[in-house]
Amino acid sequence: MFRYEYYRPATIQEALGLMERFNGDAVYIAGGTDVMVLLRQKKLTPKALISLRNIKELSRKEELIIGAGVTHREIQQDDAIRKRFSALHDAVCRLGSTQIRNVATVGGNICNAAPSADTACPLLVLDAEAVVVGAGGIRRIPLDDFFVAPGKTLLQGGEILKEFTIPGLTANTGSAYIKHTRRAAMDLPIIGIAARVTVNKNDLRCKDTICATSRSSELLTYFADEDLRCEDIRIAMGVVAPRPIRAKAAEAALRGQLISEETVARAAEIAVSESSPRDSVRGEAWYRKEMVKVLVQRAIMKALDRVLRPDEMVYPDRLW
Ligand SMILES: Cc1cc2nc3c(=O)[nH]c(=O)nc-3n(C[C@H](O)[C@H](O)[C@H](O)COP(=O)(O)OP(=O)(O)OC[C@H]3O[C@@H](n4cnc5c(N)ncnc54)[C@H](O)[C@@H]3O)c2cc1C
Repeated sequence: MFRYEYYRPATIQEALGLMERFNGDAVYIAGGTDVMVLLRQKKLTPKALISLRNIKELSRKEELIIGAGVTHREIQQDDAIRKRFSALHDAVCRLGSTQIRNVATVGGNICNAAPSADTACPLLVLDAEAVVVGAGGIRRIPLDDFFVAPGKTLLQGGEILKEFTIPGLTANTGSAYIKHTRRAAMDLPIIGIAARVTVNKNDLRCKDTICATSRSSELLTYFADEDLRCEDIRIAMGVVAPRPIRAKAAEAALRGQLISEETVARAAEIAVSESSPRDSVRGEAWYRKEMVKVLVQRAIMKALDRVLRPDEMVYPDRLW
């Protein structure tokens, strides 16, 4: 039987020291929901597992700082994240199951670097920065630079991901993540799309009951005379490339433009041209491209909806 040593350091420095002692032939383990699968499949055969669960520095959770060791469940239960960083909240609500969310961490999801990692696209559109600690000190890496290839990140030499910092968002900004799956639960995304939209006005709110009950796709008609423009936008796509990516050309096409069905549809078309999905058991490439077109539009509308209708009562899942 394969055997390994198991350590539970209490500080980042202690963990780094252990990794050095094993000359890199050790694996950090947080929730273990990816690592244990790889151990069982014998794709990982380290001399030691270094648990990160006891390191308090990794569990810090403030409004704009999320420790790598924070579990998906903790994020799901955080009201401030739900309201202000809604895309991330959308993602953790659909990640695995309650049991998985109870132990799996946001840091593990990002360090595992799967193209399907549910928290990757939301953190990309939220402009998250990864704060990384290693023997050489601290590095701050924009998340967009963090992913290198499937299962590969910029982490090197036993570095530990400490936390994510997220810039504050203005009131005229909304974000959303849509995970497209065959099943409602316990499924990886066929594709995942996140969007963050900042509009040019601070005081735009749906005031009448029609807005509270109609579908988001009809919202634009109520704001047709408002000169509603996209001041800034981020779009991120998962499972359309070897790593989660931003649709930067699509963002550029919409930035500064009037928000209308036409401009949003045009941005979605451009996002399709930026995607290069492959065939897999979950979906074929042509289907993924079709769904990029559909879901980029929906994610933008869902993010916009959160600016125009901040009242949480108008977010039943059936809209999406
Ligand atoms: C049944 C099941 C369902 C799942 N469903 C989903 C899903 O719907 N969506 C999804 O995205 N994922 C899913 N996953 C995958 C997994 O749960 C997530 O990727 C999870 O977030 C991993 O976190 P963890 O804490 O368990 O990581 P671990 O397994 O402990 O670690 C994963 C990797 O990250 C490294 N690591 C962890 N923390 C750090 C750190 N702070 N610094 C440096 N390296 C670190 C580890 O060394 C390892 O390489 C599922 C897994 C299972 C078993």
